[in-house]
Amino acid sequence: MTGIGFRERGALLAGRAAGEAARRLGRGGGTALPGLVAGTLAPRLIERFAAQLGYGAITVTGTNGKTTTSHLLTNTARAAGLQPLTNRSGSNLERGIASTFVDAATPAGTLPDASSRLGVFELDEAVWPLLLPRLKPRAAVFLNLFRDQLDRYGEVDSVAEGWERALAAYASPIALVLNVDDPSVALLGESARNEVVGFGIEDRGVALIEAEHASDARFCRCGATFRYDAVFMGHVGLWRCPGCARARTVPVVAARDVRLGADETRFTLCVGERGAEVAIPFAGLYSVYNALACAAGAHALGLPLEATVRALAESGPAFGRQERFEVDGRHVRLLLAKNPTGMNEVLRTLLANTEPLTLLALLNDGIQDGQDVSWIYDADIERIAGRVVTLIAGGDRADDMALRCALAGFEPVVAERDIERALDAAIARTPAGGRVEVMTTYTAMLAVRAILARRTGAQPYWEEQA
Ligand SMILES: [Zn+2]
Repeated sequence: MTGIGFRERGALLAGRAAGEAARRLGRGGGTALPGLVAGTLAPRLIERFAAQLGYGAITVTGTNGKTTTSHLLTNTARAAGLQPLTNRSGSNLERGIASTFVDAATPAGTLPDASSRLGVFELDEAVWPLLLPRLKPRAAVFLNLFRDQLDRYGEVDSVAEGWERALAAYASPIALVLNVDDPSVALLGESARNEVVGFGIEDRGVALIEAEHASDARFCRCGATFRYDAVFMGHVGLWRCPGCARARTVPVVAARDVRLGADETRFTLCVGERGAEVAIPFAGLYSVYNALACAAGAHALGLPLEATVRALAESGPAFGRQERFEVDGRHVRLLLAKNPTGMNEVLRTLLANTEPLTLLALLNDGIQDGQDVSWIYDADIERIAGRVVTLIAGGDRADDMALRCALAGFEPVVAERDIERALDAAIARTPAGGRVEVMTTYTAMLAVRAILARRTGAQPYWEEQA
């Protein structure tokens, strides 16, 4: 009846105790520790808890957009009357998933309200193949594959091959929710024995006029290089192969008539024959992809379209993703940029705003950021020269960011490694009522968010979603 045995129950208690101790000591949230401890003591904990989820699970993976898409899916599940169980932002490795279960379980080792539970799990791209057979999700969302943290993963092709091998070896039914605009993802549908739900943008009006620098060439399985009739970002767009019949297919879940604003985005969400007007409180075309991925995932799970539309309109930002803070009368917005394509999309988002702009560009070189920062040279920082009024560079590699911006034609007024001092410099140079846009790598986001949370009284991150 309880679902887990003595060994797991002991591991569960040990994991919880570790997590509580970490939280009491104020150590970085203690989000991974319970899972690490419990998972080590009981290696099959994840399988046993995943099997208790009454509505099964959906996974979300890909280079950019995992956290926001999972957040939107979680809210959609809630709007549909389910009780979502989701891992916290950044805890997307095996131990993060184990921690999620450990935190949610009763001491007896059961998930409360298990019959109405849907697991929504953000998974690291490299970890997804390992967790597929353990979580046995009903549906898997694949967002995109961009060049990211090369020192960690190697080429994007090897990540896609890992996904493909895992799917080939997996016998249970699963719906694949695929971004048809990204050929690296779309081709996963070729070998699928199961349902495929494609999503994509059906509006050439939001295509880039010229290809971006970050558009690394992608090769078809036949060996030819893909051609594009329209590029939306990076290598994502209306692709086709000149060497064989492969081409982007028409998506079941699509965005039409996309209108990009400085703070919000509107589009017509089409799911099969049905359509709905959607306004999401997020900027940027990448936000449209996240919303589409959510809608397609919800469709694959059989959740009502109305629940998706409501969740998209009402969801606040996910942790550190377009989050806003009011500090000393200035509006501060966090824009995460972890790789060239992500940074290009942030820059495009900034261009949608015609007001004078203070940009705080934070660059760290922690393990989670990628220790090689040369990727900033693959981003088109040039495109905002002349638009940014005041630029401040900050973070461990503030000098590299300053040099990169200087080469793009605009020099920072301050280059300051200390993030709090860099933030203060940005605020001091912004008129009251003005905006400070913070373009930041991952670990710098954690640092600047903690400072902003402290100053504004927002919750520290391990209390989020509690
Ligand atoms: Zn081909």
